[in-house]
Amino acid sequence: MRKISLGSVMVAVLVAVVAFAPTLPAAATVVFYTVQKGDTLSAIAQRYGSTVTALARFNNLVNPNLIMPGQRLEIPDGDGGATYTIKPGDTLWDISQRQGVSLAGLKEVNPGIDPKCLTVGSTIKLPGTERILASRQAANIALAWPVTGRISSVFGWRKGRMHQGLDIAASSGEMITAPAPGQVVTVGWYGGYGQRIIIDHGRGIRTLYAHCSAILVKPGEQVRTGQGIARVGTTGNSTGPHLHFEVHVNGRPYDPLQFLR
Ligand SMILES: [Zn+2]
Repeated sequence: MRKISLGSVMVAVLVAVVAFAPTLPAAATVVFYTVQKGDTLSAIAQRYGSTVTALARFNNLVNPNLIMPGQRLEIPDGDGGATYTIKPGDTLWDISQRQGVSLAGLKEVNPGIDPKCLTVGSTIKLPGTERILASRQAANIALAWPVTGRISSVFGWRKGRMHQGLDIAASSGEMITAPAPGQVVTVGWYGGYGQRIIIDHGRGIRTLYAHCSAILVKPGEQVRTGQGIARVGTTGNSTGPHLHFEVHVNGRPYDPLQFLR
């Protein structure tokens, strides 16, 4: 029999705010939930007024039945998830500042709220339009395969750690090509990633290539789809020649398979 302590409930409702990479015009809000022992995705979804499908999609969960204690989930605010409970002394201004949302946005999603008379313990909605825009934007990206090869590891949790990219096994020296037009942001050695490249495709979308044996582009360079940018290698923390490929939207990694066409 499981006992739920007040402490764990308080941890569960802890609301954290992050500011995305400065590609977005303003900060977006995200509600984080840390998975507790015994949690199921459906219970979490119910608690936040969300759905299993929405949570799985939002967190790029490969298997919605497999969540682990300590794993951090983002609760989609566009699906009625992000709320805030009024505490004594709160003003709408304080809340907007702490949650990183605009005062106008707060008023907009809470029509009829009286800023001069907030009820302690009542729940208000947090605006999340930027977040919704970001996921819509992500849904419209199509990327070409950067290398021909066999998928050796997919995006998602493996052995308790998040694998933020897609591994494509290919021969050492095989050409890696740009999957979309963009501008090279950075190239060079980066810890376990080995020789790494990041390309910015605009609209908050970036792609990353790790373990390269050679890099064929320079920072600032414009690349076109299909242009050779690097060669497959096994530099950094790698057990054999492969491309570790990541796709980030507004600073957050997504499953590259969602975008590859
Ligand atoms: Zn990898």
